[in-house]
Amino acid sequence: MYDIQLKTVSKTYLGTNEPAVKNLSLNVEKGSIITLLGPSGCGKSTTLRLIAGFERAEGGSISLAGKIVSDENTWVPPEKRGVGMVFQDYALFPHLNVFDNIGFGYKEKDRKSRVMEVLELVNLKGFEKRYPYELSGGQQQRVALARALARRPVVVLLDEPFSNLDADLRVTMRVEVKRILKEAGATAIFVSHDQKDALAISDVIAVMKDGVLEQIGTPREIYRYP
Ligand code: ADP
Ligand code: ADP
Repeated sequence: MYDIQLKTVSKTYLGTNEPAVKNLSLNVEKGSIITLLGPSGCGKSTTLRLIAGFERAEGGSISLAGKIVSDENTWVPPEKRGVGMVFQDYALFPHLNVFDNIGFGYKEKDRKSRVMEVLELVNLKGFEKRYPYELSGGQQQRVALARALARRPVVVLLDEPFSNLDADLRVTMRVEVKRILKEAGATAIFVSHDQKDALAISDVIAVMKDGVLEQIGTPREIYRYP
């Protein structure tokens, strides 16, 4: 079963001539991690924004967990799509501690236990009272990931989550993020322009260029790796 399905989706921004994404079709299997890999400006972020519902596609359709969230007749707003997002700048609330950052907006009865559960998943037990400025880049990244996972999203979208980490931490976090996503059983799309990220983290790599998918396959198929 596919958790994410894009069928011939396009997006042209106002005031531009060339579509940022052209007739893109993509299927992501439940529980798998796919990387959109390609140079700056090739349409990776736009693809994520279409899936998250921050932009509306022209034509085609988008389905999440088998339900159409966007087509000619359907529009499900971002907050109802069950999407968890992780951004390159983490986007943590500076005035909230780790516990409240993760639990923000999560109103279920199991709030406390769920926050503690995801804190454990990202190896940050004991950090719940700290503020973002008291954390390293890698720890802030884990908090952002924990926040995205807390609501048990259908899909997790990660936009260049490592770009603010130094080289050593990046190597560690590739392994960590993969472990965390796999333990959570998440279906994830990860965006990067770094081939090493893609090789380390992906079940499937989709190479984008100028708004289209150039190639899609396992790391082995794309790079004869490992
Ligand atoms: P990537 O994530 O691969 O760097 P983007 O999806 O951000 O690529 O951008 C794809 C293309 O769309 C680029 O040419 C970019 O300049 C353009 N673009 C992105 N966002 C906007 C916007 N809000 N308005 C106009 N053009 C945009
Ligand atoms: P990234 O490389 O992570 O996609 P960008 O710096 O390209 O980030 O884009 C940051 C923000 O600016 C995004 O919201 C994107 O949609 C918007 N943006 C990108 N390119 C353009 C553009 N040419 N015109 C207007 N907005 C843009």
